[in-house]
Amino acid sequence: MGGLLSSPASGAGFTVASVEELLERVPALTVPPASPALASARVLIIGGSIGGAAAAACLRAAGFRHVQVVERSEGLQAGAGIGMDEATVAVLKGLGVPLATTATRSPEGAVVLQRMRWEEERLASGRTVLRQPLPYFAARYAQLQQGLIQRLPADSVSFGRKAVRLEETFRGCDDHPDGTAVRVHFASGEPIDCDFCVCVDGPRSGFRQLLQLDSGKELRFAGYTGWRGVVNEADLPETARDALHAVYPLYGNCLYFIMSECGRGHAVLYDLGDGLLNWLIYELRPQGPVAEPGRTTSAASSADVRRLHSEARRVWGEALGAIIEATPEPFWNDIYDIAEPLESFVATEGPLAGCAAVLGDAAHPVTPHMAKGSNMAVHDAFTLAAAASTASTPAELLASFSAARAQETKRCVLLSRHLGWLRNGQLQGMSGPPRDEATFLELLSKAKLPTRTLPVGGDFEALWRHVEAQLPQEQRGYFLQREESGTLAVPVAALRGSLEVTQVNHVSRETQDVARLARFYEEVLGFERLPRPNFDFGGVWLRLPGSDSQSLHIIEADPELQRKPPPLLDSWLLEGFPERHIRRSHHIALTVPDIEKARSTLQAHGLRFAENRVPGKPVVQLFLFDPDGNGVEIGNFDAR
Ligand SMILES: Cc1cc2nc3c(=O)[nH]c(=O)nc-3n(C[C@H](O)[C@H](O)[C@H](O)COP(=O)(O)OP(=O)(O)OC[C@H]3O[C@@H](n4cnc5c(N)ncnc54)[C@H](O)[C@@H]3O)c2cc1C
Repeated sequence: MGGLLSSPASGAGFTVASVEELLERVPALTVPPASPALASARVLIIGGSIGGAAAAACLRAAGFRHVQVVERSEGLQAGAGIGMDEATVAVLKGLGVPLATTATRSPEGAVVLQRMRWEEERLASGRTVLRQPLPYFAARYAQLQQGLIQRLPADSVSFGRKAVRLEETFRGCDDHPDGTAVRVHFASGEPIDCDFCVCVDGPRSGFRQLLQLDSGKELRFAGYTGWRGVVNEADLPETARDALHAVYPLYGNCLYFIMSECGRGHAVLYDLGDGLLNWLIYELRPQGPVAEPGRTTSAASSADVRRLHSEARRVWGEALGAIIEATPEPFWNDIYDIAEPLESFVATEGPLAGCAAVLGDAAHPVTPHMAKGSNMAVHDAFTLAAAASTASTPAELLASFSAARAQETKRCVLLSRHLGWLRNGQLQGMSGPPRDEATFLELLSKAKLPTRTLPVGGDFEALWRHVEAQLPQEQRGYFLQREESGTLAVPVAALRGSLEVTQVNHVSRETQDVARLARFYEEVLGFERLPRPNFDFGGVWLRLPGSDSQSLHIIEADPELQRKPPPLLDSWLLEGFPERHIRRSHHIALTVPDIEKARSTLQAHGLRFAENRVPGKPVVQLFLFDPDGNGVEIGNFDAR
């Protein structure tokens, strides 16, 4: 549902787009066709989870005719919820993966999406530290994997096949002029020969080692373990449901990060859509990981669950505590990343040089704090397939893929690590989580890492370059881009049309003394008094001399609003509502003939605005700030 929501600060309404509208706006990215020399190559993909399935689907979309996926599990992964960025959604759209917004009306096998419009860092006691826009969606892991697998011919995916070894074979042999490059051996069954192999075997990748990519670059236990749970909102006790919406008013639109104030790590909460609620709690584990060696997830014992429940309300507050207690079968997920990110994803030495690479978590195991692991795997997949349009040999293709992705994913691994430390209060010298935005941002900048990266994954320049080059002219500039300063901003979208302003309707002046100001304009400047609608605050309307329709609105200053600059654009939802700041303050008002059109044009520009109506008139007012924080009002002032 889109439409009007209530601001937690003022209770006033603000407009948000529905998940359908948001989904509609994301363009479909199509993979360019592979060069004919490569399209006939035989490709084997080891691992059939998100990364492997996405790589296979993208390569097939590029025109590769012989793509096989082998997966050691017997079926699809269970998984929980994941946050998906818009680039991933754009790739899925281009692949034709069915995307839906509710399960009830969706086609069989569709990936059901929920929107995330904001990201909020807050303390468990409820205080917001930082809120920023977040163009993300939420989805279920298993549906995403299934949606991708369904894009592949059934006979190209084999479950229950564990690859154990790669071997160079027949390359350059006179008897085999076409030269088979790699032979993949399995725990059981016949080996498979291919021209190149993509190893997408997850964070504990055996092939990362086998290709000698990670000498000395071991997996690093992050020092905390995630409790994960998914619960149906309908199964929560009524009091817990009410508390959820009261304490987390943007639930359904927001990815919440909740920092404990007693040294217990941090929690994550978001709506998965279709009534499902996803939560995670990162619990510090100085004693080491929970799962047995070689594994990252494990079922929780009943003693563990009892302890989780006994502490939940005290550490995370009544609302989240009650949700945790009502969740069936929470499980453990130890958190790892790669101690030192890889510089290259492709074997450059040894017998397998140029014919095998790693992708997804196998290439860049990452902590989950930027919600980027699966996204990066899909971005990798798209980049690999797109690189095939210019490469003519597997070695060129894999080298180009690695060059495009290694540095960018490295930055993400490091930033995500710092975000985990920050939210868990683990950075050097910290004695708890940051309690305000300034400290939060200062800590990130001390770590010399760009902030506000989570919303757009803005460091993924190679991907954005591909995206820009791919899109038709009128769609370019859709994706959020990085400013030179390293922060992120929405680009000016010149191609999205501008408002049809017909005239300045009025200029407003805020004053502590309405009568004194009115006297000046009437007696000295010759303005004439106009009738004024029945607003709930004082003021006077004056006609500009010589004009029929342009006026000056003198407005009584709002005694409750402190005299301070307009609230920060990114945090206005909490710190103050612009409608009030603009309506009761200096602003310029512009007439438009069609208010619906004006509303959708502002939305297309990604601008946030507040809405109000003039009492007793069919006039709708849209209030927004210009980039310098000056108030602007747009209205259909000629409506009768
Ligand atoms: C708590 C948590 C929350 C997360 N939240 C998000 C999020 O919100 N957004 C996001 O984008 N990401 C998130 N992630 C990260 C995401 O889950 C991973 O990045 C993603 O699963 C990586 O996909 P992959 O295909 O590369 O690897 P994996 O999902 O690990 O898949 C590897 C596959 O390879 C198979 N395999 C392994 N060895 C072999 C072999 N020898 N032969 C054949 N098959 C083999 C495995 O069975 C497995 O299916 C989260 C992760 C965690 C832990």
